[in-house]
Amino acid sequence: MNIAQALNLRGQVDSYERQEAAWLLEHILKLSPLHLKMNMMQVLSAEQEQQFLDGLMRLAKNEPLAYIIGSQPFWTLDLTVTSDTLVPRPDTEIVIETVLALDLPKVAHVVDLGTGTGAIALALASEKSLWQITATDIYAPSLEVAKFNAEKHGLNEVNFALGSWYQALSIQQRNEKFDLIVSNPPYIDPEDAHVAKLEYEPQRALVADNKGLSDLEFIIREAPQWLNANGWIVLEHGYDQANAVQDLLKQYGFENVCTVQDYGGNDRVTLGQK
Ligand code: GLN
Repeated sequence: MNIAQALNLRGQVDSYERQEAAWLLEHILKLSPLHLKMNMMQVLSAEQEQQFLDGLMRLAKNEPLAYIIGSQPFWTLDLTVTSDTLVPRPDTEIVIETVLALDLPKVAHVVDLGTGTGAIALALASEKSLWQITATDIYAPSLEVAKFNAEKHGLNEVNFALGSWYQALSIQQRNEKFDLIVSNPPYIDPEDAHVAKLEYEPQRALVADNKGLSDLEFIIREAPQWLNANGWIVLEHGYDQANAVQDLLKQYGFENVCTVQDYGGNDRVTLGQK
């Protein structure tokens, strides 16, 4: 089987399914996208062919490609992912763009609550080398993945802290206030049919009680005591949660509350200023 024949096994020409097959093949053959395109007649070894067919079978069962190849591009980084972490979503890049557009101090103190692969903390660290960034997660294996990703990209200034939301912050940091709290917490309503399609990803990172709002509310309620004057909170949320998140921010005293849409045109990120 050559590369052209292998790609023909999945999806229509130019479909997303076909593109995923190409990414899988690039990973197995260790070829760049350009080299894959230029070598359509290259024949796969028996082992490569078997690996490719196994991968296609996993994709057919709705397993995310990122778990099959072990990494996912996010912002400018290639992040290692494992079954202990959520797969970083392109929507979350809106969080990064939103944060970078804020007027924050040159040496901003930042915390990313529930970092997972480290996506938000590491993307910000890659853009702002002077920021003092802490990334937290409740789950040790996830935090190990985030640390691994920091090392992989030489982002060694980021601090990592294990624990639930603000509890992760050490005694030393309990005296520290932040200029920015950022988080992509679990926000899917347990009743949402969408959850069933995400069976391969850790539910703990996806689903929250109270229609998906319980973690968002907790993070917002505790935020004022952790923020400097004029500090910002930037939160990712579900497409239908902008009003609820805006109301919570206003209820806990935040100003300049507004919502930013993702590239799919859905409300995705809401922010407010202390
Ligand atoms: N945006 C993700 C999804 O709907 C959920 C991410 C999250 O819960 N934080 O698939």
